[in-house]
Amino acid sequence: MRKDGRRALLAAKADAIMILPSVKAASHNLAPATPASVAFTDELVACLRKRFASGGHDFALDVSFNLTAGITILFGPSGAGKTTLLNCIAGLTTPDSGKIAIDGRILFDREREINLSVRRRRIGYVFQDLALFPHLNVRRNVEYGLADVDRNERRRRSDAILESFRISHLGEHKPGQISGGERQRVALARALVTDPCVLLLDEPLAALDTPTKLKIIDDLRAWNHEHRIPILYVTHNREEVFALGERMLVLENGQIIADGTPHEVMTAPHLETVAQLAGFENIFDAIVVATNEDRGTMTCRIAGRQVELETPLVRAETGSTLRVGIRAGDILLATVQPSGLSARNVIPGRIVSLAQRDVIVVARVNCGVEMEVHLTLAARDSLQLQPGRDVWLIVKTHSCHLMARP
Ligand code: ATP
Repeated sequence: MRKDGRRALLAAKADAIMILPSVKAASHNLAPATPASVAFTDELVACLRKRFASGGHDFALDVSFNLTAGITILFGPSGAGKTTLLNCIAGLTTPDSGKIAIDGRILFDREREINLSVRRRRIGYVFQDLALFPHLNVRRNVEYGLADVDRNERRRRSDAILESFRISHLGEHKPGQISGGERQRVALARALVTDPCVLLLDEPLAALDTPTKLKIIDDLRAWNHEHRIPILYVTHNREEVFALGERMLVLENGQIIADGTPHEVMTAPHLETVAQLAGFENIFDAIVVATNEDRGTMTCRIAGRQVELETPLVRAETGSTLRVGIRAGDILLATVQPSGLSARNVIPGRIVSLAQRDVIVVARVNCGVEMEVHLTLAARDSLQLQPGRDVWLIVKTHSCHLMARP
């Protein structure tokens, strides 16, 4: 991208981190009275549609939801429309139709031709690329959104937020002189110092190592606890979902396909998208070969293979095809044939490959189908695992999650 183009993009994003103090004081006077269909509540209400059609590629975002105070995770595969949704709320993208209101204050209403500018929306936004100004030091980056605030007040607020995010000592440094985790903290501090009424976070911690991420998560959780505003947090990361999420929306092809607590959505995924994102490394089509009503189980054969699995009983006809998801971390591996186990599925196989990923070992085992199994380094060493070694996979019935086929 040319330098001018980059500047323009940064400037557009910069608008999203500014507030007009006068707007804050008189926010309810900016827009005409709210229509009856949008409630005056302490929440963000959005109902919007945005279509992109270019070069044979057609995408439509079509969502309707409300957000109350607290952290809502926005989860979904690449291209599902997460950033588009955030941009529509922030005012960087104009929806084709719909309404967006916060606390009854209308930000956007296509029919009534209301479309508040980015600056007037009072929305904090941390972008995927952070969009920090490289030529400004940390303090001036943080104070950027407070340009119209009285000097003493600006100082007081930036001091407080730098303190909250533990970056007071970095005030004079430029973004290029600090670490990735510190830059992330600066971006969060910059978004929050404006006292936004909604916070949008687009994969803010994606590039960080786990210990750094956990510390920032702690600080963000503490901030959320104190301020309680609606926060929409985009992540693909399972740990972040459980560490931060109070509620979770799953977006697929521009539509919300699941809405619930992280536990509800992630532990009982009926949809394959959720399952894949929820960390089901093993997903197979399987045919129901028998139902055991009295035991509450079914026997399913993996399509086209001889591998049979005992699964929980669901309402399905013998002969019908379902999809089974098994987490790699839920499979045990033994080097001698186990006996006397409560687990119903003991499947012989042979190790195809072993690869270390961070502190886990990923084993691929051919047992008629290839299954991924996650082990600790200690397990790999004590079992002396190697490619070519015969093993048995042990899977509990309730670790076989059944889902509808798309
Ligand atoms: P990721 O997780 O990869 O960031 P996402 O869920 O945020 O993906 P979006 O960036 O919102 O997805 O994109 C959703 C769809 O809209 C994609 O198919 C994308 O190509 C398309 N899209 C986004 N912005 C535009 C645009 N300005 N013009 C045309 N198509 C666009």
